[in-house]
Amino acid sequence: MPIRKIFLEEKDIPSQWYNIVADMPNKPKPPLHPGTLEPITGEALAPLFPDELIKQEVSTDKWIPIPEEVRDVYTLWRSTPLYRAYGLEKALDTPAKIYYKYEGVSPSGSHKPNTAVPQAYFNKKAGVKKITTETGAGQWGSALSFACNLYGIECEVYMVKISYHHKPYRKTMMNTWGANVIASPSNLTEAGKKILAKDPDSPGSLGIAISEAVEKAAQDENTKYALGSVLNHVLTHQTIIGLEAVKQMEMAGDLPDVVIAPFGGGSNFAGLSFPFLRLNFEEGKKIRCIASEPASCPKLTRGQFRYDFGDAVGMTPLIPMYTLGHDFVPAPIHAGGLRYHGAGAIVSQLLHDGLIEAQSHMNKEVFEAGVLFARTEGIIPAPEATHGIATAIREAERCKEEGKKETILFNLCGHGNFDMKAYEDYFDKKIQNHELTEEEIKSSLGALNTPMVE
Ligand SMILES: *Cc1c(COP(=O)(O)O)cnc(C)c1O
Repeated sequence: MPIRKIFLEEKDIPSQWYNIVADMPNKPKPPLHPGTLEPITGEALAPLFPDELIKQEVSTDKWIPIPEEVRDVYTLWRSTPLYRAYGLEKALDTPAKIYYKYEGVSPSGSHKPNTAVPQAYFNKKAGVKKITTETGAGQWGSALSFACNLYGIECEVYMVKISYHHKPYRKTMMNTWGANVIASPSNLTEAGKKILAKDPDSPGSLGIAISEAVEKAAQDENTKYALGSVLNHVLTHQTIIGLEAVKQMEMAGDLPDVVIAPFGGGSNFAGLSFPFLRLNFEEGKKIRCIASEPASCPKLTRGQFRYDFGDAVGMTPLIPMYTLGHDFVPAPIHAGGLRYHGAGAIVSQLLHDGLIEAQSHMNKEVFEAGVLFARTEGIIPAPEATHGIATAIREAERCKEEGKKETILFNLCGHGNFDMKAYEDYFDKKIQNHELTEEEIKSSLGALNTPMVE
């Protein structure tokens, strides 16, 4: 019987995260103060994050030790399985070998706990009593609720109002782990009140929820803030995915030619791909790493490399990022985790330098890919994850046309068991394609007056 999936023994779970900054030919530029356009130092972040995470944010050390206590929690679900997708290969009749790393086996169902746990741990060590955050579709809020509960930290989640009403079970999940979930915009913050005064029926947005969570954390010295993507330390924590996958691919006797992952702010893409990029840097391998994004939010394929705010309201430093403009409002696609206007600084620099690639997909194509995957491999993917599957299928079809036996690895970053509304809409033919016109992109970027990144 051919081997279908590979695990690592607990003792072989990596004991260090990989910080790609150490190996990058051009380091990411530092964020800028929006008023002076001077680089921001780590200390400016102190009201929001504990020291240890700020150190990791600016670190150029190649390896960052994973505390034993965090590794111990990781073993609740890690290692995650590496699967060979025999069913999908057969359905596509491709000469390519397809593998996927499955992060949906975590308690909250995605890769997000890989960083939620160390973030809660380092906050606990710093004596923090409460953490605030935002969540859109609910994946990040669930992961942080789970992690805060482990360390007895109070967790307050500002959940985009429309998702709060559309995804009641995500809220209940967070409540089960003891978190307090608030529909955003709320009247608990000045930012929320301002929005509600203008528009009492505002459906909310990630940008607004970030503003509310940041405001609450900045007010109280025992409260900090946590972010689930974009920032350097978040990407570094996620490399546990790829470090495991490098070992598992070795055990399978294979090395990928192509590594693929869906892209929101960059954390699961970085997590899987950076340890393979290390092989390119160190051993001269030529592994292609492809980020998959929705055609309705195409910052990597059609955005500008420019300084921009991380939130919609303009409260954060200016980050050097591929962006569509911080007040860009993407179409309400079901892949809520991919509806973000920008990309993290590290991933943006790598794209600019031609060290990674990006592809975009229309909405109907990703649902077709997701349903084909569910019917051939069994697992129902999160709507975000279907984007990576669509790129993997595209690459497998290219291999068939070119008669090439390449090896493809993609990240199945979460299951879709809470996303039945999305699949229901697909079967009811309510899914629409949204492709931005040139004018829409120009008008959104035209509102920026920030510098380009050199
Ligand atoms: C949050 C999330 C994403 C997008 O965020 P990244 O930081 O780009 O990984 C994608 N898929 C799932 C399942 C998510 O929960």
